[in-house]
Parts: sequence; C-alpha cells; structure tokens
Amino acid sequence: MLIVMKHDATEEQMGKVLAHLKTRGFQAEKLIGSERTAIGIMGNRGFVDLDEVTRFEGVREILHVSKPYKLVSREWRPDPTIVDMGFGVKIGGDLPRVVIGGPCCVENEEMLIETARELKKVGVHALRGGAFKPRTSPYSFQGLGVPALHMLRKVGDEYQMPIVTELLHIHQLDALNQYADVIQIGARNMQNFEMLVEVGKSKKPVLLKRGMSATVEEFLLAAEYILSNGNSKVILCERGIRTFETSTRNTLDLNSVALMNDLSHLPILVDPSHGTGVARLVARLAKGSLAVGAHGLMIEVHPNPSKAFSDGAQSLDLSQIRQLMSEMKTQFQTPSSK
Ligand code: PEP
Ligand code: MN
Repeated sequence: MLIVMKHDATEEQMGKVLAHLKTRGFQAEKLIGSERTAIGIMGNRGFVDLDEVTRFEGVREILHVSKPYKLVSREWRPDPTIVDMGFGVKIGGDLPRVVIGGPCCVENEEMLIETARELKKVGVHALRGGAFKPRTSPYSFQGLGVPALHMLRKVGDEYQMPIVTELLHIHQLDALNQYADVIQIGARNMQNFEMLVEVGKSKKPVLLKRGMSATVEEFLLAAEYILSNGNSKVILCERGIRTFETSTRNTLDLNSVALMNDLSHLPILVDPSHGTGVARLVARLAKGSLAVGAHGLMIEVHPNPSKAFSDGAQSLDLSQIRQLMSEMKTQFQTPSSK
C-alpha cells in the first residue's frame, strides 16, 4: 500500500503518519520521488485503517499496490534506479547504455589481459569472466576458482573496468565481496532464496539473471528478495528462456525487457550470447535489445572462441566485438527508453 503525500506536505506531517503506522505495527518506508513523495507499507501483514490515515494532514490519497512485489515496482518508485558498478560506470534510466564483455570463464591471465585490452580500446565498459562455473556436466571445466578472482581484480584495476563475476555458492560470498565489483547470480540460482537474502545484505551491486524457466513475475520476486534485505543495487538480466524451440540455445525473450521497463524501476541488461547460443546471431539481438529499451548488454567475448573452455560457440572474437561496438555507437549516444 502506498500513502501518497500532497506536494506541499511537510516533513513533520510525514513524520506523524510514519509514527502512527509504527504504533500500529507496520513497517513503513519513506519514498522520495521527483514527482511525488509517498510512504510505502511493506508486506500486507495486518489491517490498515484507511480512514484513520486519510485524516492525517498532508495525505493526498492511498493507493493499493496490486503486484506481489513492491520494492522493485514502478508503482512503488516511479524514478529509475541508477546502479553504480564502480570505476564511474553507471547503468539505468536515461544514461548511455553500458556494455559488459569478456569470456564465459577465466582460463588464464594472458587471455584475460588480451581480452580486456581490446574491450577497453573499443569502448566496452565492464569486464565479465566466470571464476566458478555452473556446468551442466560434472566433467566440463568448472572454473579456476579463487585464482581467477585474483586475475580479474588485477586486470580490472589495470584497465579501470568494473569486474562482474558469478557467485555459484553462498560460501564464496566473502571472496566475491572482496574481489568483485558486481556479483552475478546465474540463471540456475535465480531462486536460490538463501543466496538472494545473503546478497541482499551485501553492499555490492548484484546482476541477477533470469532463471531459464522463470516467469517475469518470479524474476521480479527474486529481485524483491534482494531489495527487501537492504540492497537496492540490482541489475536485472534477461538471458533467454527455454521454449519448444530448439534451433537456438534459448529463446531470447525481448517481450520481458519492454515489459519489465514498465513494471520496474531497475536497470535491465540483455545477454544475447546465452540468449541465442550462436555467435553470428549475437550482434543482431544486441541491437534489437537496445531497440526495446535495454539499459545495457552482456556479451561473451573470447580471443579465440574455437579454443574456449566454455561457450565458444556463442562468443564473439575480438574483431567481432570491435565491429559491433562501432555499429552500436550511435545507439549508445541515445538514452535508453526509460
Ligand atoms: C554466464 O553468464 O556465463 C552464465 C553461466 O549464464 P547463465 O546463468 O545465464 O546461464
Ligand atoms: Mn557462458
């Protein structure tokens, strides 16, 4: 429920409403927006006597928030959330679009340096790379682990690029808090609720990927877990879903991007690499994602995709990312839709 205050409502009037709600046992939060100031009541536990609240001075109206998620919704917070990823890279709202690039997994320091040097040169803003890899087969390469975090940190600092890397298990959180700039939660962990609670207590921005069979509502509720535990620095990432279509790895759901832009104030990234699984389709889907309002992209890049330890078939090589970045340049200068 949202208690919308009048434009000229004073701090004191707002304070009285907040104090009243507190005495009634509600958890209430002040929401200061550019267009309105409101008080949000969290969780629908208990009964709010509307007459009682509307009688307070400064109250304009009371709105019911119809969605099961609140903190992530635009009803709750009409202004866009801007997430600071580090090294001055910010994503969200009308800011120029952000591109995160890098290998699926960190294989060694040399390939990471070679990739980062080129990415920096062509204008990619942040560096990704898996240290802990969620692999479908237990026989596939599982990632270098902590040594890869050291490499990412070193290379990120050298090239002044924020580091994005995946948290595969909750016990890795201390290490990620120490070495990463942005914590990625992968599709397979989108509904790992304990993990969502723990990253909610972290100070780091979280890049939350959509589960491969999650609905938009389930996805936004997963984000709600993080916000409701105190961390509002969440970036949503559409990475494709499983459908009956098997000719591409996943079906990149661009409906969700347009829709979530309406439903939520959080920045939205698209990952056309996992979304298609096919390198030659990535550039077109990247541009399509920007056209429907994505605030940024996450693209897998490898200096020699045919030799990659994981996801080579969907990785762009260094000349392909250079070309894509130059083609998208004009689009980065235009703000995203919301
Ligand atoms: C990845 O980004 O390398 C990854 C494993 O992605 P997802 O969780 O979307 O499959
Ligand atoms: Mn991958």
